[in-house]
Amino acid sequence: MGMLRRQAFWFFEALRGRPTSRVAREMCGTETLGADELRAVSDRRLAAFCERAAREVPYWQRVFAEAGLEPDAIQSAEDLVRLPPLTKRDIREAGADMFHPKGGPFRITETGGSTGQPLQIHESPLRQSVSLAARIRSRRWWGIKPGDPELVLFGGNMERTTRGLLHKIKDELIGSITYPAFGMTEEHLEKLLGRLRSMRPRHVFGYTSALCGFARHLRKRHGRDDAAADCGVEVLFTTSEMLLPADRVLLEETFGARVADGYGSKEAGFVAHECPAGRMHARIDTHIIEIVRDSRPVPDGEPGEILLTYVGDWHWPFLRYQIGDAARWTGESCTCGLQLPVIAMTGGRITDLLVRRDGGLVHGLGAIYPIRETPGVERFLVHQKSLELVEVSLVVESGYPSDGDEKISSRLRDTLGGPEVRIQHVPEIAQLASGKYRVVRSDVSR
Ligand SMILES: [Zn+2]
Repeated sequence: MGMLRRQAFWFFEALRGRPTSRVAREMCGTETLGADELRAVSDRRLAAFCERAAREVPYWQRVFAEAGLEPDAIQSAEDLVRLPPLTKRDIREAGADMFHPKGGPFRITETGGSTGQPLQIHESPLRQSVSLAARIRSRRWWGIKPGDPELVLFGGNMERTTRGLLHKIKDELIGSITYPAFGMTEEHLEKLLGRLRSMRPRHVFGYTSALCGFARHLRKRHGRDDAAADCGVEVLFTTSEMLLPADRVLLEETFGARVADGYGSKEAGFVAHECPAGRMHARIDTHIIEIVRDSRPVPDGEPGEILLTYVGDWHWPFLRYQIGDAARWTGESCTCGLQLPVIAMTGGRITDLLVRRDGGLVHGLGAIYPIRETPGVERFLVHQKSLELVEVSLVVESGYPSDGDEKISSRLRDTLGGPEVRIQHVPEIAQLASGKYRVVRSDVSR
């Protein structure tokens, strides 16, 4: 059965004219290289990619000319600092000038806009294949192959409205069933549990918040911490949002499965993924990652802002894309044997940094932990309106202590240097259009 589904998977890829099979083979080949060889391959790809963009793509012709650079000026990751970072606004304003003249055909989707205005994504068949191949590769690290039954819990209006009948038939044939993370009513969640029991997927893929919401519901409804441990799930692949340690424990216990976190985004593809030894490996053969502060690289171990050069797709080339996340290189080698460098995400979106009254920056986690550590909090949103005012919305359930508000306010006041903290209890917190939840928002740091 698995074999048939695997064949169906590759058949559909070929039918759609996507080079997924070739890209996946190349990726898996690169993986066996030593660390130095891998860096050399990554630099070679970067140099060719930048030169092509600088010669053939109108937007990049302009940027290189304005920076006084020849098209072959970028030969390694260190040279990238000579180019300015690329913002979402730059991409929006450049429009079709950022497409390669031979690029496309493009499938157009939108980002959820969790860092501001949404961005239209132009996915060439190559870009789609690179993303899919990256997924195949990291699943392999966990012993999962294409065709192994999978349940996908994803959000987004896009997925919900365009997943037509043909898509559904294809999904059945390749053994991958997609459920929207939207509108997860109790009834919807129970149906999902039924599906999980009958399908027994080896792996589940989804938004961290959607999976955690599902797990909490199951525990409450069935009165057991291991409510879904009998469904045969081996690995839960989480994505799109920060996975806090408490979320990981919740998911592991509820499903009796391991949790593997991935880092990426709709516009930038799959950038890094956790291995079974628990470290996040950066895919430097498709994404050149710089970790910078004020556009200059920071030393290993120090956190900074991520800039991505997506060498996997020349149709719509991104050089030094400011994705809005923070990370650090750990400099460690990993016991799993992979030579892809180890990166540690240091939290959510850069725009979710909070600002103390004295002007100092506080990581979003500084506000998240005091709330997550309070029992009975189901969901929350911290909204820094100004240096003087922080509003906290809480969805609480039984078990929330009577002095909870007081304790949370006092800890947030300490963390943020004494602003007024207003707490309101609300029946629910709206999801973003993408189906994700945002937990920390600041009008000051943006
Ligand atoms: Zn590893």
